[in-house]
Amino acid sequence: MLARDIQINGIVQGVGFRPHVAKLARSLGCTGWVLNNTNGVEIHIQHIDEEVLACFEKHVVENAPFAAHVLSISSKDAPVANCKEFLIRTSEQGSSKSTLVSPDLATCPDCLRELFDPHDRRYHYPFINCTNCGPRFTIIEDLPYDRPVTSMRPFEMCPACQSEYEDDADRRYHAQPNACFGCGPQLWWATSEDATQDINTTLDRPAVSGQGVPRPHGPMSREGRTAENGLEASDELIERAASELEAGRILAIKGLGGWHLSCDAENETVVATLRQRKHRPSKPLAIMVRDIDAARHLAYIDDAEEQLLCNAARPIVLLKKREPSSLATGIAGELPEIGIMLPSTPVQHLLMHATNKPLVMTSANISGEPIIADDDEAFSALSAIADAFLGNNRKIVSRYDDSVARIAYDGRVQMVRRARGYAPTPLIVNAPAVDTAHTPVIFAAGPEQKATFATLADSRIFISQHLGDLERRGSWLAWEQARERYEHLFDTNPQVIACDMHPEYLASKWARRTAQEHGLPLVEVQHHHAHIASVMGENGLAGPVIGIALDGTGYGTDKTIWGGELLIATRGSFERFWHLPCFKLPGGAAAIRNPQRTAYAILQAYGRLDDAFFGQFSPDNPQFAPFLEELEERELLDQMLAKDINSPICSSAGRLFDAASALLGICSHPSYDGEAACLLEAHAHAASMPSSKHGHPPLTAWSFHEGLIMAIIEQALRAREETGITELALGGGCMVNRIVSRLLEERLRDCGFNVYVNRELPPNDGCIAHGQAIVAQARLEE
Ligand code: ZN
Ligand code: ZN
Ligand code: FE
Repeated sequence: MLARDIQINGIVQGVGFRPHVAKLARSLGCTGWVLNNTNGVEIHIQHIDEEVLACFEKHVVENAPFAAHVLSISSKDAPVANCKEFLIRTSEQGSSKSTLVSPDLATCPDCLRELFDPHDRRYHYPFINCTNCGPRFTIIEDLPYDRPVTSMRPFEMCPACQSEYEDDADRRYHAQPNACFGCGPQLWWATSEDATQDINTTLDRPAVSGQGVPRPHGPMSREGRTAENGLEASDELIERAASELEAGRILAIKGLGGWHLSCDAENETVVATLRQRKHRPSKPLAIMVRDIDAARHLAYIDDAEEQLLCNAARPIVLLKKREPSSLATGIAGELPEIGIMLPSTPVQHLLMHATNKPLVMTSANISGEPIIADDDEAFSALSAIADAFLGNNRKIVSRYDDSVARIAYDGRVQMVRRARGYAPTPLIVNAPAVDTAHTPVIFAAGPEQKATFATLADSRIFISQHLGDLERRGSWLAWEQARERYEHLFDTNPQVIACDMHPEYLASKWARRTAQEHGLPLVEVQHHHAHIASVMGENGLAGPVIGIALDGTGYGTDKTIWGGELLIATRGSFERFWHLPCFKLPGGAAAIRNPQRTAYAILQAYGRLDDAFFGQFSPDNPQFAPFLEELEERELLDQMLAKDINSPICSSAGRLFDAASALLGICSHPSYDGEAACLLEAHAHAASMPSSKHGHPPLTAWSFHEGLIMAIIEQALRAREETGITELALGGGCMVNRIVSRLLEERLRDCGFNVYVNRELPPNDGCIAHGQAIVAQARLEE
């Protein structure tokens, strides 16, 4: 008899891993046991045949349950124990806080089959789940992950659910959110009048609204069971929601990580109404369709995109829109891309099944703030927007926005916003020269916009979900809330704090204050160094690298605003090798809101006010005459620029895109962050399409992209010549621009560079906290 002890670390608890191990071991005729321990799963396996043990080790990882995420496996020979069968043992020490739990997972195929099987006891049950799917971090209050420390606590399992939960051969073995019509959460319905009343009333008022359908006693803070709501009543609510949507009304629908606003995506009028009520004139709206076939009617979808749409995180996937389209033009305006997601919860599956229409499914939030999760908050913020509410009585503990991703030109996933379904799966610190075992716990406070924070401990970096723009009060509160929760969940007391070197960022101010109060070392990190360090961290590079950050804005070491930077960087330090020629931003933030100002300042700074046309259009006229005629407040701008009144100096690539957009008359008054640049890209994209008719702006938009990229490559070549470095890291918010990322990456590779980009994190400021942690760790090593 041979015996072996195997330790598997990663996301292996609460995902059906022990039953998987037991089943495999038994099928191979092995004896032994499996149990959860502090780091993951511990296995003792015995058999007379060495080959069988090898086979077990291979398949235990290769055929792991799909929600599992194995980070490491180690195995060693062990003394033979006296055992006659293979057992799942209860953990002696219980699972610890350092154990990883999976993020929220979309309804799995098995549950989906039951959901639509009229003979199943969970037929049409809107909260069906199992060990392979369902809510996780959106319901967890504490770890180790166990039902009493989730918002499933008020729902006591019925005998049928309980016996599934206890049966190690059942696919609901230890599924913490396990539930059914007899014992679990239920839907409720409220009109916006109900909601308005609700805000003004207190506890314990009779809570029945319309046709005997139960809704909670007041708002969600009193979550828990309120009344029987069986199949019929539940179906009726889904039907009602579907018919209201089809009738052109706007619904607020409670999802996994927060509330969505929904309406018929093919109804021009209701989409316009939603935009008007939400004060969101033009930012694209995400839509949800029933399945992949429905998605194909609206967008071009290749294999990689299909995989991304269907993966268990169910992100919003940015896809190339089909034209002509049945969608309302108000969904995404002139943009060639559309954001589509597939249903991730049983409620969404039921709803999409009841209506055959694509639905707008946009985060219910106040602009720049994270998604609304709380029922009270939903009632007060959304009563003026939604006509009715489809809610449920399970509390959302942590808010998670929908994640946004796309497939890049080379087939890789490019993350744009990392939240539900991804966070807080940690990244592994991948540092060739760093002794990760002895690094103290580092807390990185992150940036100001697209905020996340990060905690580095034991060679893992936990990066929070996207938390919005911190200058918004709601976002700041969400940041603090999430920070406290992560610190509690992962039991991490920061020993070192890292932050952006910007003097005014709220997260940086918090970091400086906290470091001082607790006497902790503080590492201040330059914004674009963090961008490059994040790319290095994700790719296991020690540097030095040529780091190119094409970005909006970040505070520079010379106190000016940076953003078009070529750095020679290691993880711990950098040197500014080159940057875009500087220009002024007349009015600072006002110039960001009105790119005409930036455009004018750039024409002045670059000496281009009187440039002639280079094209065939009008060789004798100054190229920018039409722009200058349109320009508002030119005299004021002249004064501000001449006297340096509130006109910070910058080298931002993002602002350059804004300015080009304004110069071409494409967008001079953006209504959301990045709109001018997105529309410029859309115009350039049009110029690259062989069939389309296009005029001067698309062509010029395209040559602007070309020109900028050529200038950057020239500098990269110069940097290589002077330093001999061929490793090149590309980052910054402009890398979300498809044309920029494709042309730059391809051409730099053609020039012989080894090009690296962000992999699991977005290239925009969603990676900054990670980069700060990487820099802090490297500095501590030095
Ligand atoms: Zn399932
Ligand atoms: Zn039950
Ligand atoms: Fe940035």
